[in-house]
Amino acid sequence: MTVPQNSPNSSPGLRSQLEHNRAKEMEELVIPTILLIIQQIKDTDEGKRSLGVRYEDPKMLYSILNLDKLSLEKGLREDVKAAEKLLATVKSILDNSVNTWHPGFMDKLYASTNPIGVLSDIVLSVLNTNSHVFTVSPALTVIERKVAQKYAALFGFTGENAGGLTFSGGSWSNITSLHMARSLLFPETKLEGNTHKFAIYTSVHSHYSVEKAAILLGLGANSVFKIPVDKRGRMLVSELEKTIQETKNKGYTPLYVNATAGTTVFGSFDPFEDIAPVAKKYGLWFHIDGSWGGNAIFSAKKAGLLAGSHLADSITSNPHKMLGVPTTCSFLLVPNDRVFTQANSLSAPYLFHNAQDDNENFDLANGTMGCGRRADALKFYLGWLYYGTNGYSERVDHAYTIAEYFTEKASQTAGFTVVSDTPLQCLQVCFYYSPDNQKLTGAERTHVTRHIATQLHGSGQFLVDYAPNPDDSANNEDNGEFFRVVFNSPIVSSDVVDQLIDKIVEVGKTVPKLN
Ligand SMILES: *Cc1c(COP(=O)(O)O)cnc(C)c1O
Repeated sequence: MTVPQNSPNSSPGLRSQLEHNRAKEMEELVIPTILLIIQQIKDTDEGKRSLGVRYEDPKMLYSILNLDKLSLEKGLREDVKAAEKLLATVKSILDNSVNTWHPGFMDKLYASTNPIGVLSDIVLSVLNTNSHVFTVSPALTVIERKVAQKYAALFGFTGENAGGLTFSGGSWSNITSLHMARSLLFPETKLEGNTHKFAIYTSVHSHYSVEKAAILLGLGANSVFKIPVDKRGRMLVSELEKTIQETKNKGYTPLYVNATAGTTVFGSFDPFEDIAPVAKKYGLWFHIDGSWGGNAIFSAKKAGLLAGSHLADSITSNPHKMLGVPTTCSFLLVPNDRVFTQANSLSAPYLFHNAQDDNENFDLANGTMGCGRRADALKFYLGWLYYGTNGYSERVDHAYTIAEYFTEKASQTAGFTVVSDTPLQCLQVCFYYSPDNQKLTGAERTHVTRHIATQLHGSGQFLVDYAPNPDDSANNEDNGEFFRVVFNSPIVSSDVVDQLIDKIVEVGKTVPKLN
């Protein structure tokens, strides 16, 4: 290392060593990467680029990515071929990743992003700011407040102070909602911890983040009471009320009920309009976990599934799942956004009518348990601005049409048994496939499902998921694992659905016998 001759302030020497020409470096590194990405998207659209390789053993990638010989001593930038070598590294990462831009990507609940998504992530990286306080993120702060207000209004939160904040995923939005419930309904807990034996209620099909929230907040997983569901996977409200009474008799203090909009496995929507009065009767915080299905609110046909959402105390909704906004982007929406500071700020522990609490808060981290935060709301703002409510409606409606087309076609094809409730509540379809249309045991069904899913992935054409039936664990029954295929993307057409069904039938012929 050379020692700068002048003081760092006056020396162009030190500066030039680290940042000789940032604009030029940007051009040399970023432009070729963008061109490479554009080419890959083109290749994907022309059917020349697959979904990616399936790796049997993750350790294979250590050598494929040259990680077993990784040396970080001397920076690549000192090499005359730095730009070229960097591009080769990026290419290798892209080649060894899942190509979510491929129409056969139907795994999990998210889909690929899109050009506006990429653009918004670039802007965030360029700004590289922190949306914890207004001073360092003026534009991003007011954008977050405004877009949250617009989003909240869709769910019927239309009051003057309606709004929301982003959290780093649906799980964190849910966890924060439970924490806010406790802080607002039992303010003394901010100073004294869990002052009561609290009980929380959620359906057996709900997401595990509810249980994790109870663990994290010191309530313990045993304070989560799982309410049974009806045949359509919706919480039984009579059972909810019965359980509330039982737990009260056992000395619990009812605190919170979580209802789900789009359960993770089946995509069911709990009956919010019926849950709301029960929550009110017992003084519970009423949260809706719409991490997955919340954005059905954009669908003209399906928004009715969210009837009663305006009665909730908080709603989680993730633009990163159904809307193609880059991961992560999750909102926690509320009818009155002053609750964020009331529950989370240290300055006003429990004097809720403190004048400070009534002010509009522009230092957003004051309303969270965290400090530094990425301004994820910008990605949703630019996406919504670009596509419009009409564009997002079209996107979600298209996805429902495709999912329904699959369901229809699978029901008419020998060997397929659709287990999802129809008409579909959400965009995933759960089904079994039996190659010779035989009656299979649970273990045989799991074997067939896993074999076919693995082969589809290996073909580079389709990536689909599978799951055990969440009812099995409750009933001690083994019906076997079924496919769970998500039709969430605007690039999936009926042709892709036809190919998927044909491919399942074709690969089904190769399933080895289970001994
Ligand atoms: C995905 C999901 C979550 C968790 O959201 P993340 O953003 O992955 O943390 C919570 N609830 C439901 C119903 C989900 O589908």
